[in-house]
Order: sequence, then C-alpha cells, then structure tokens
Amino acid sequence: MNLVLVCGSGTTGCHGRIEGNRAWAESLGYLVRRGVAGPGEVPVWVAGVGWRRLTADGGVEPCPPPS
Ligand SMILES: [Zn+2]
Repeated sequence: MNLVLVCGSGTTGCHGRIEGNRAWAESLGYLVRRGVAGPGEVPVWVAGVGWRRLTADGGVEPCPPPS
C-alpha cells in the first residue's frame, strides 16, 4: 500500500486544489481515474524532485514522465 499525503480538506489546501482542478491533478498523478490504471503505474509529480512512482512497499522510485 502507498499514498500521497496532502494538506487541507476537500475544499481547502492542496486537497482542495486537487478536487477543484481535477484535470490538472490527473495530469500530475494526484488523481487516478478508477479503472484506468493501477495507482502504482501512474507517475506522480513531486515538486523540486521530479516524476516518481509509488511502490507497493511504501517507497518511491524515479520514473519517466507519463506518456
Ligand atoms: Zn498543501
């Protein structure tokens, strides 16, 4: 299991920004459409770090940008 922790609620902070800008959030891997892909296959943009994939054991690893 793995997850990305963000601040705020559904209407405030980073969580609010994600919920209010879903296309933007999907483009950066912060939202994953149900049924599109396993979350572990979706690159996530980490500010100041780059594209990362969340591993099943709770880690992160570098990965190419989404295609
Ligand atoms: Zn935040």
